[in-house]
Amino acid sequence: MLKKLFCCLLLLGLFSISVYCWYQLLSSLNDTQSEDGLIKSGVYYRVFRLESDFWKEQIMKENETTETKTHKSPLVTEELKKCPDPSPLLVGPLRVEFSTPVSLDTVRKENPGLQEGGRYKPHDCVALQKVALIIPFRNRDNHLKFWLYYLHPILQRQQLDYGIYVINQDGENTFNRAKLMNIGYAEALKEYDYDCFVFSDVDIIPMDDRNTYKCFSQPRHLSVSMDKFGFNLPYNQYFGGVSSLSKEQFLKVNGFPNNYWGWGGEDDDIFNRLNNRGMSISRPDGVVGQCRMIRHERDQNNNANPQRFKRIAHTLMTMDTDGLNSLEYKVVTVEKHDLFTKITVDVGTPPKEEDMDKDE
Ligand code: BGC
Repeated sequence: MLKKLFCCLLLLGLFSISVYCWYQLLSSLNDTQSEDGLIKSGVYYRVFRLESDFWKEQIMKENETTETKTHKSPLVTEELKKCPDPSPLLVGPLRVEFSTPVSLDTVRKENPGLQEGGRYKPHDCVALQKVALIIPFRNRDNHLKFWLYYLHPILQRQQLDYGIYVINQDGENTFNRAKLMNIGYAEALKEYDYDCFVFSDVDIIPMDDRNTYKCFSQPRHLSVSMDKFGFNLPYNQYFGGVSSLSKEQFLKVNGFPNNYWGWGGEDDDIFNRLNNRGMSISRPDGVVGQCRMIRHERDQNNNANPQRFKRIAHTLMTMDTDGLNSLEYKVVTVEKHDLFTKITVDVGTPPKEEDMDKDE
Protein backbone atom coordinates (compact mmCIF):
# COMPACT_ATOMS: atom_id res chain seq x y z
CA MET A 1 0.00 0.00 0.00
CA LEU A 2 2.78 2.38 0.95
CA LYS A 3 4.65 1.35 -2.17
CA LYS A 4 1.59 2.21 -4.35
CA LEU A 5 1.22 5.60 -2.67
CA PHE A 6 4.90 6.33 -3.26
CA CYS A 7 4.58 5.38 -6.95
CA CYS A 8 1.53 7.66 -7.35
CA LEU A 9 3.40 10.55 -5.77
CA LEU A 10 6.39 9.86 -8.01
CA LEU A 11 4.21 9.81 -11.10
CA LEU A 12 2.51 13.05 -9.97
CA GLY A 13 5.91 14.60 -9.40
CA LEU A 14 7.16 13.48 -12.80
CA PHE A 15 3.93 14.82 -14.38
CA SER A 16 4.36 18.16 -12.66
CA ILE A 17 7.98 18.34 -13.76
CA SER A 18 7.01 17.54 -17.35
CA VAL A 19 4.20 20.13 -17.24
CA TYR A 20 6.70 22.68 -15.91
CA CYS A 21 9.17 21.75 -18.62
CA TRP A 22 6.52 22.06 -21.33
CA TYR A 23 5.52 25.40 -19.85
CA GLN A 24 9.13 26.60 -19.88
CA LEU A 25 9.58 25.31 -23.38
CA LEU A 26 6.44 27.08 -24.60
CA SER A 27 7.41 30.23 -22.73
CA SER A 28 10.78 30.30 -24.31
CA LEU A 29 9.16 29.79 -27.66
CA ASN A 30 6.76 32.68 -26.91
CA ASP A 31 9.64 34.88 -25.86
CA THR A 32 11.31 34.28 -29.20
CA GLN A 33 8.08 35.14 -30.92
CA SER A 34 7.73 38.23 -28.74
CA GLU A 35 10.60 39.75 -30.63
CA ASP A 36 8.35 39.51 -33.59
CA GLY A 37 5.70 41.23 -31.60
CA LEU A 38 3.39 38.37 -30.83
CA ILE A 39 3.17 38.79 -27.10
CA LYS A 40 1.34 41.64 -25.51
CA SER A 41 4.30 43.65 -24.23
CA GLY A 42 5.96 43.17 -27.61
CA VAL A 43 2.81 44.33 -29.35
CA TYR A 44 2.77 47.54 -27.32
CA TYR A 45 6.41 48.01 -28.03
CA ARG A 46 5.78 47.38 -31.68
CA VAL A 47 2.82 49.77 -31.71
CA PHE A 48 4.90 52.33 -29.91
CA ARG A 49 7.66 51.90 -32.42
CA LEU A 50 5.20 52.05 -35.22
CA GLU A 51 3.58 55.19 -33.81
CA SER A 52 6.90 56.83 -33.25
CA ASP A 53 7.88 55.92 -36.78
CA PHE A 54 4.56 57.30 -37.95
CA TRP A 55 5.13 60.60 -36.13
CA LYS A 56 8.74 60.65 -37.21
CA GLU A 57 7.54 60.33 -40.77
CA GLN A 58 4.91 62.98 -40.16
CA ILE A 59 7.46 65.33 -38.63
CA MET A 60 9.84 64.65 -41.49
CA LYS A 61 7.05 65.28 -43.96
CA GLU A 62 6.06 68.44 -42.11
CA ASN A 63 9.66 69.61 -42.09
CA GLU A 64 9.88 68.84 -45.72
CA THR A 65 6.76 70.85 -46.42
CA THR A 66 7.97 73.69 -44.21
CA GLU A 67 11.29 73.51 -45.99
CA THR A 68 9.58 73.53 -49.34
CA LYS A 69 7.32 76.28 -48.06
CA THR A 70 10.22 78.38 -46.81
CA HIS A 71 12.08 77.43 -49.90
CA LYS A 72 9.01 78.34 -51.91
CA SER A 73 8.20 81.65 -50.22
CA PRO A 74 10.96 83.53 -51.98
CA LEU A 75 9.74 81.80 -55.11
CA VAL A 76 6.25 83.16 -54.44
CA THR A 77 7.64 86.72 -54.44
CA GLU A 78 9.77 85.85 -57.41
CA GLU A 79 6.65 84.55 -59.11
CA LEU A 80 5.23 88.09 -59.03
CA LYS A 81 7.65 89.26 -61.66
CA LYS A 82 8.29 92.78 -62.80
CA CYS A 83 5.72 93.98 -65.32
CA PRO A 84 6.98 93.71 -68.89
CA ASP A 85 8.06 96.82 -70.77
CA PRO A 86 6.11 97.74 -72.84
CA SER A 87 2.89 96.54 -71.24
CA PRO A 88 1.21 93.78 -73.28
CA LEU A 89 -2.18 95.35 -72.46
CA LEU A 90 -1.69 98.40 -74.66
CA VAL A 91 -4.08 98.85 -77.57
CA GLY A 92 -2.54 101.85 -79.39
CA PRO A 93 -4.64 104.68 -80.88
CA LEU A 94 -7.77 105.68 -78.95
CA ARG A 95 -10.95 107.51 -79.81
CA VAL A 96 -11.12 110.62 -77.67
CA GLU A 97 -14.10 112.96 -77.83
CA PHE A 98 -15.80 115.37 -75.50
CA SER A 99 -19.30 115.76 -76.95
CA THR A 100 -20.94 113.17 -74.67
CA PRO A 101 -20.70 114.11 -71.01
CA VAL A 102 -19.39 111.45 -68.62
CA SER A 103 -20.36 110.90 -65.00
CA LEU A 104 -18.12 109.93 -62.13
CA ASP A 105 -20.45 106.96 -61.58
CA THR A 106 -19.61 105.61 -65.02
CA VAL A 107 -15.91 106.05 -64.32
CA ARG A 108 -16.30 104.23 -61.01
CA LYS A 109 -18.15 101.33 -62.63
CA GLU A 110 -15.61 101.03 -65.41
CA ASN A 111 -12.66 101.00 -62.99
CA PRO A 112 -13.55 98.53 -60.23
CA GLY A 113 -9.92 97.81 -59.35
CA LEU A 114 -9.19 101.27 -57.92
CA GLN A 115 -8.37 101.93 -54.30
CA GLU A 116 -9.43 104.97 -52.31
CA GLY A 117 -7.87 108.20 -53.47
CA GLY A 118 -7.56 107.03 -57.09
CA ARG A 119 -4.76 104.57 -56.36
CA TYR A 120 -4.01 101.48 -58.39
CA LYS A 121 -1.35 98.84 -58.79
CA PRO A 122 -1.30 95.78 -61.06
CA HIS A 123 -2.19 92.49 -59.35
CA ASP A 124 -0.21 90.06 -61.44
CA CYS A 125 3.13 91.85 -61.73
CA VAL A 126 5.21 94.44 -59.94
CA ALA A 127 4.86 97.82 -61.64
CA LEU A 128 8.07 99.24 -63.05
CA GLN A 129 7.38 102.65 -61.55
CA LYS A 130 5.39 104.28 -58.78
CA VAL A 131 3.83 107.28 -60.46
CA ALA A 132 2.07 110.25 -58.86
CA LEU A 133 -0.11 112.13 -61.33
CA ILE A 134 -0.36 115.78 -60.31
CA ILE A 135 -3.16 117.93 -61.72
CA PRO A 136 -3.12 121.67 -60.93
CA PHE A 137 -6.80 122.57 -60.60
CA ARG A 138 -9.50 125.11 -60.00
CA ASN A 139 -13.19 125.04 -61.03
CA ARG A 140 -12.79 122.50 -63.84
CA ASP A 141 -14.96 119.63 -62.61
CA ASN A 142 -16.27 118.73 -66.06
CA HIS A 143 -12.77 118.53 -67.49
CA LEU A 144 -11.70 116.41 -64.55
CA LYS A 145 -14.48 113.90 -65.29
CA PHE A 146 -13.22 113.46 -68.86
CA TRP A 147 -9.64 113.22 -67.63
CA LEU A 148 -10.52 110.49 -65.13
CA TYR A 149 -12.74 108.70 -67.65
CA TYR A 150 -9.96 108.43 -70.22
CA LEU A 151 -6.85 108.25 -68.05
CA HIS A 152 -7.76 105.62 -65.44
CA PRO A 153 -8.13 102.79 -68.00
CA ILE A 154 -5.02 103.96 -69.88
CA LEU A 155 -2.85 104.06 -66.74
CA GLN A 156 -4.08 100.60 -65.73
CA ARG A 157 -3.26 99.19 -69.17
CA GLN A 158 0.16 100.79 -68.79
CA GLN A 159 0.52 98.64 -65.64
CA LEU A 160 1.61 101.51 -63.42
CA ASP A 161 1.48 101.71 -59.65
CA TYR A 162 -0.17 105.11 -59.57
CA GLY A 163 -2.12 107.71 -57.61
CA ILE A 164 -4.09 110.74 -58.84
CA TYR A 165 -3.61 114.05 -56.97
CA VAL A 166 -5.83 116.96 -57.85
CA ILE A 167 -4.25 120.04 -56.31
CA ASN A 168 -7.00 122.57 -55.98
CA GLN A 169 -6.11 126.24 -55.48
CA ASP A 170 -8.31 127.67 -52.75
CA GLY A 171 -9.98 131.07 -53.18
CA GLU A 172 -10.13 133.29 -56.25
CA ASN A 173 -6.68 134.85 -56.28
CA THR A 174 -4.42 134.68 -59.31
CA PHE A 175 -3.75 131.10 -60.35
CA ASN A 176 -0.29 129.65 -59.77
CA ARG A 177 0.06 126.43 -61.80
CA ALA A 178 3.74 125.79 -61.04
CA LYS A 179 3.37 126.23 -57.31
CA LEU A 180 0.43 123.81 -57.30
CA MET A 181 2.64 121.25 -59.04
CA ASN A 182 5.38 121.68 -56.44
CA ILE A 183 2.75 121.19 -53.73
CA GLY A 184 1.46 118.07 -55.51
CA TYR A 185 4.97 116.65 -55.51
CA ALA A 186 5.45 117.35 -51.78
CA GLU A 187 2.00 116.10 -50.74
CA ALA A 188 2.11 112.91 -52.83
CA LEU A 189 5.47 111.99 -51.30
CA LYS A 190 3.97 112.30 -47.82
CA GLU A 191 1.63 109.50 -48.79
CA TYR A 192 3.71 107.03 -50.79
CA ASP A 193 7.24 106.47 -51.98
CA TYR A 194 6.64 107.66 -55.54
CA ASP A 195 9.61 107.63 -57.85
CA CYS A 196 8.03 109.40 -60.79
CA PHE A 197 5.83 112.49 -61.15
CA VAL A 198 3.61 113.23 -64.11
CA PHE A 199 2.37 116.83 -64.21
CA SER A 200 -0.74 117.11 -66.32
CA ASP A 201 -3.16 119.86 -67.22
CA VAL A 202 -6.71 118.72 -66.49
CA ASP A 203 -7.84 119.31 -70.06
CA ILE A 204 -5.27 117.24 -71.99
CA ILE A 205 -6.05 113.65 -72.97
CA PRO A 206 -3.60 111.34 -74.76
CA MET A 207 -4.89 109.67 -77.95
CA ASP A 208 -2.62 106.63 -77.79
CA ASP A 209 -1.93 104.45 -74.74
CA ARG A 210 1.58 103.69 -75.97
CA ASN A 211 2.40 107.19 -74.70
CA THR A 212 3.30 105.80 -71.29
CA TYR A 213 2.79 108.19 -68.39
CA LYS A 214 6.01 107.20 -66.65
CA CYS A 215 9.54 108.54 -66.27
CA PHE A 216 12.52 108.07 -68.52
CA SER A 217 16.26 108.49 -68.21
CA GLN A 218 15.70 112.12 -69.28
CA PRO A 219 12.76 114.38 -68.35
CA ARG A 220 9.85 113.52 -70.65
CA HIS A 221 7.52 115.80 -72.52
CA LEU A 222 4.37 113.76 -73.16
CA SER A 223 1.94 116.15 -74.87
CA VAL A 224 4.06 116.63 -77.97
CA SER A 225 1.43 116.53 -80.67
CA MET A 226 -1.62 118.50 -79.55
CA ASP A 227 -4.68 119.14 -81.70
CA LYS A 228 -4.57 122.75 -80.41
CA PHE A 229 -1.23 123.22 -82.16
CA GLY A 230 -2.19 121.30 -85.31
CA PHE A 231 -0.55 118.10 -83.93
CA ASN A 232 2.84 119.79 -83.80
CA LEU A 233 5.14 121.31 -81.24
CA PRO A 234 4.48 125.07 -81.07
CA TYR A 235 8.26 125.54 -80.59
CA ASN A 236 11.17 123.21 -79.95
CA GLN A 237 11.65 124.11 -76.30
CA TYR A 238 7.95 123.66 -75.49
CA PHE A 239 7.57 121.64 -72.27
CA GLY A 240 3.96 122.51 -71.33
CA GLY A 241 0.78 120.46 -71.05
CA VAL A 242 1.92 117.08 -69.74
CA SER A 243 5.45 116.24 -68.60
CA SER A 244 7.12 113.65 -66.39
CA LEU A 245 10.15 113.89 -64.14
CA SER A 246 11.67 111.32 -61.85
CA LYS A 247 12.14 112.33 -58.24
CA GLU A 248 15.86 112.66 -58.90
CA GLN A 249 15.40 114.85 -61.98
CA PHE A 250 12.88 117.06 -60.15
CA LEU A 251 15.17 117.51 -57.15
CA LYS A 252 18.11 118.34 -59.39
CA VAL A 253 16.30 121.47 -60.64
CA ASN A 254 14.71 122.46 -57.32
CA GLY A 255 11.27 121.72 -58.80
CA PHE A 256 9.18 124.39 -60.52
CA PRO A 257 9.44 128.11 -59.73
CA ASN A 258 6.86 129.36 -57.19
CA ASN A 259 6.64 132.92 -58.43
CA TYR A 260 4.88 132.64 -61.78
CA TRP A 261 1.43 134.07 -61.10
CA GLY A 262 -1.12 133.90 -63.93
CA TRP A 263 -0.87 132.17 -67.29
CA GLY A 264 2.39 131.23 -69.02
CA GLY A 265 6.13 130.97 -68.62
CA GLU A 266 6.48 128.41 -65.80
CA ASP A 267 6.92 125.52 -68.26
CA ASP A 268 9.60 127.50 -70.11
CA ASP A 269 11.29 128.16 -66.78
CA ILE A 270 11.54 124.48 -65.89
CA PHE A 271 12.78 123.78 -69.40
CA ASN A 272 15.59 126.27 -68.71
CA ARG A 273 16.29 124.63 -65.35
CA LEU A 274 16.59 121.17 -66.89
CA ASN A 275 18.76 122.48 -69.68
CA ASN A 276 20.97 124.25 -67.17
CA ARG A 277 21.48 121.02 -65.19
CA GLY A 278 22.61 119.22 -68.33
CA MET A 279 19.43 117.29 -68.99
CA SER A 280 17.72 116.96 -72.33
CA ILE A 281 14.04 116.40 -73.11
CA SER A 282 12.84 113.01 -74.26
CA ARG A 283 9.63 112.75 -76.31
CA PRO A 284 7.44 110.09 -77.91
CA ASP A 285 7.08 110.33 -81.68
CA GLY A 286 4.42 112.59 -83.18
CA VAL A 287 1.94 109.73 -83.69
CA VAL A 288 2.17 108.11 -80.25
CA GLY A 289 2.33 111.60 -78.70
CA GLN A 290 -0.96 112.83 -80.16
CA CYS A 291 -3.41 114.33 -77.69
CA ARG A 292 -6.58 116.36 -77.51
CA MET A 293 -7.27 119.44 -75.45
CA ILE A 294 -10.78 120.23 -74.20
CA ARG A 295 -11.66 123.63 -75.65
CA HIS A 296 -12.55 126.24 -73.05
CA GLU A 297 -12.57 129.93 -72.28
CA ARG A 298 -9.60 131.47 -70.47
CA ASP A 299 -10.14 130.93 -66.72
CA GLN A 300 -10.93 133.86 -64.46
CA ASN A 301 -7.91 135.13 -62.55
CA ASN A 302 -5.50 133.42 -64.88
CA ASN A 303 -4.62 136.15 -67.32
CA ALA A 304 -1.34 136.01 -69.19
CA ASN A 305 1.49 136.92 -66.88
CA PRO A 306 3.28 139.97 -68.32
CA GLN A 307 6.25 139.28 -66.04
CA ARG A 308 6.92 135.89 -67.60
CA PHE A 309 9.43 137.01 -70.24
CA LYS A 310 11.55 138.80 -67.65
CA ARG A 311 11.40 135.79 -65.35
CA ILE A 312 12.31 133.25 -68.04
CA ALA A 313 15.35 135.33 -68.90
CA HIS A 314 16.58 135.00 -65.30
CA THR A 315 15.94 131.31 -64.58
CA LEU A 316 19.60 130.55 -63.97
CA MET A 317 19.80 133.23 -61.31
CA THR A 318 16.61 132.28 -59.52
CA MET A 319 16.39 128.48 -59.77
CA ASP A 320 18.47 127.73 -56.69
CA THR A 321 16.44 129.95 -54.40
CA ASP A 322 12.95 129.72 -55.89
CA GLY A 323 11.48 126.25 -55.97
CA LEU A 324 11.01 123.25 -53.69
CA ASN A 325 13.39 124.74 -51.14
CA SER A 326 11.29 127.91 -50.78
CA LEU A 327 7.85 126.31 -51.08
CA GLU A 328 5.27 127.68 -48.60
CA TYR A 329 1.59 126.83 -48.53
CA LYS A 330 -1.23 125.76 -46.26
CA VAL A 331 -3.27 122.61 -46.76
CA VAL A 332 -6.94 123.53 -46.39
CA THR A 333 -8.53 120.09 -46.94
CA VAL A 334 -7.54 116.62 -48.09
CA GLU A 335 -10.42 114.70 -49.65
CA LYS A 336 -10.06 111.04 -50.47
CA HIS A 337 -12.46 110.31 -53.30
CA ASP A 338 -12.82 106.92 -55.03
CA LEU A 339 -11.22 108.18 -58.21
CA PHE A 340 -8.72 110.78 -56.96
CA THR A 341 -7.29 112.59 -53.98
CA LYS A 342 -8.22 116.26 -53.87
CA ILE A 343 -5.96 118.52 -51.87
CA THR A 344 -7.17 122.08 -51.50
CA VAL A 345 -4.38 124.50 -50.72
CA ASP A 346 -3.82 128.11 -49.90
CA VAL A 347 -0.92 129.21 -52.10
CA GLY A 348 -0.94 132.82 -50.93
CA THR A 349 -1.16 135.88 -53.16
CA PRO A 350 1.20 137.39 -55.72
CA PRO A 351 3.32 140.38 -54.73
CA LYS A 352 1.24 143.56 -55.28
CA GLU A 353 3.09 144.79 -58.37
CA GLU A 354 2.59 141.42 -60.11
CA ASP A 355 -1.10 141.02 -59.50
CA MET A 356 -2.07 141.83 -63.09
CA ASP A 357 -5.48 140.18 -62.71
CA LYS A 358 -6.47 142.95 -60.33
CA ASP A 359 -5.24 145.60 -62.79
CA GLU A 360 -7.27 144.36 -65.76
C1 BGC B 1 4.11 130.24 -72.71
C2 BGC B 1 3.99 128.85 -72.23
C3 BGC B 1 2.92 128.12 -72.99
C4 BGC B 1 3.21 128.23 -74.46
C5 BGC B 1 2.20 127.52 -75.31
C6 BGC B 1 4.35 130.25 -74.20
O1 BGC B 1 4.40 131.58 -74.67
O2 BGC B 1 5.18 130.90 -72.08
O3 BGC B 1 3.72 128.83 -70.85
O4 BGC B 1 2.84 126.80 -72.58
O5 BGC B 1 3.31 129.56 -74.85
O6 BGC B 1 0.93 128.02 -75.17
